[in-house]
Amino acid sequence: MATAGIDFASSYRLSIGGELVEAAESFDVYNPATGAVLAKAPAGTVDQLDTAVAAAKAAFPGWSRLSWDEREGYLTRFADALQAQSEELTTLLTLEQGKPRHSMAKGEVEAAIYWVREVAKRRLPREIIEETEQHVVETRSTPLGVVAAITPWNFPVLLGLWKIAPCLITGNTMVMKPSPYTPLCTLRFGEIAQGILPKGVLNIVSGGNELGQHLTAHPDIAKVSFTGSTATGKRVMESGAVNLKRVTLELGGNDPAIVLPDADYKDLIPKLFWAAFGNSGQWCIAIKRLYVHSDIHAAFVKEFVAYARDRKVGDGMDPDTDLGPIQNRMQFDKLKNLFADIAANGYAVPLGGTIDESRAGNFVPVTIVDNPPEQSRIVQEEPFGPVLPIIAYDDIEDVITRANQTPFGLAASVWGRDKAKAYEIASRLEAGTVWVNEIHIHGIDIPFGGHKQSGLGVENGREGLSEYTNTKVVMTAR
Ligand code: NAD
Repeated sequence: MATAGIDFASSYRLSIGGELVEAAESFDVYNPATGAVLAKAPAGTVDQLDTAVAAAKAAFPGWSRLSWDEREGYLTRFADALQAQSEELTTLLTLEQGKPRHSMAKGEVEAAIYWVREVAKRRLPREIIEETEQHVVETRSTPLGVVAAITPWNFPVLLGLWKIAPCLITGNTMVMKPSPYTPLCTLRFGEIAQGILPKGVLNIVSGGNELGQHLTAHPDIAKVSFTGSTATGKRVMESGAVNLKRVTLELGGNDPAIVLPDADYKDLIPKLFWAAFGNSGQWCIAIKRLYVHSDIHAAFVKEFVAYARDRKVGDGMDPDTDLGPIQNRMQFDKLKNLFADIAANGYAVPLGGTIDESRAGNFVPVTIVDNPPEQSRIVQEEPFGPVLPIIAYDDIEDVITRANQTPFGLAASVWGRDKAKAYEIASRLEAGTVWVNEIHIHGIDIPFGGHKQSGLGVENGREGLSEYTNTKVVMTAR
């Protein structure tokens, strides 16, 4: 298949030790908008993974000895090369992931390139923390060694480069394993990197989940940076214990949003809609429970449904599409199961609720569930699809308790005109990020990570950079 001058059927190869390498076997990657095979991806073997780890280990001494400025130079050239191919990467992202090309895919690729360029400028300088007549004490942030990066299928480009940039600028080398559902963009930016970075600094091996498991138990991996589900995150931590690997885990969420009775809710509706349904809800920090005060709940639902009804679900290559398909059949089937539960329990569904299986592709309609019980699956589980419960509440104390009553703690938001009140509520929500009257702002210098079972550690910010290093103390007697 050829689109916009690139041949997606052309061979995708692993990046190992600076070489582009074939695999004996391959697996199919599907276009979720059509259900057709988009391309074949190399199924790397455990032996190839071991070779990649060995290459990263061999590259580590040279790479870690470079100055920060030298490494910044490499990363800036990598960002330039990604920029030069950003149109192709954007198209490929839409074709393998499903998200609309003109909006979500373009935004993801642009943000990812910006991240590489900006993170490359960050530094963790040595600090003198004590200077006495007896001695001088300094702290340094030293690289860990070989890092394994394991990524999911919802934002494969951004989440991949969120790991590569801080890992490499701090002097580590990497072996990355993308999700088997969306390996293509990652394999392509691996290829791009091989023309720029020293051999073995960045290795990309695609294949099944067993490769992820092998990496997390590998004795030559010093750290695992993992983004994915909470269930897999727990397995990563367990197998990483073998050599006390450092782990950063960015996991699932069930983010509450609380709309206070004084909110200008009519103005908020588009913002709240996109915060829940952007990327078709396949977003760790999507609003997944929307609590609206009972004074305004009925009117809010009516207006929200009116806005949502006009959004178009379709092929992400169509410029009129607002929301793309669900990325894979496994997730599509999970949503079917959840929709069956909503129907079986007779919850009010003022919009959507019925999946048309005669349509090719994994399309799920925008679905709103009006005031389901707190203990329902649609409120308690992370749906990871375009379905949102809008729940009425009367009492602020009660809604704070309900918002916090979850094993997750990724993010949350509070919306209201009384800023002091909204801020006070935000202080009591148990989440790694709480937004007040805004949402989904990220920044190079803003740490991001989950509380409770939404994760361990953070990405981004000085703290995120530090997680790719050990703290080393050097004391010198006078
Ligand atoms: P997943 O856990 O199924 O897979 C994630 C990655 O782990 C894939 O690359 C997969 O091949 C690999 N993997 C599978 N089994 C493994 C094992 N035993 N050991 C090591 N690696 C293994 O998650 P997913 O379905 O791809 O992604 C969706 C989930 O990711 C959602 O729960 C979502 O909330 C979460 N997520 C979190 C963030 C965040 O920043 N907190 C961001 C995006 C997605």
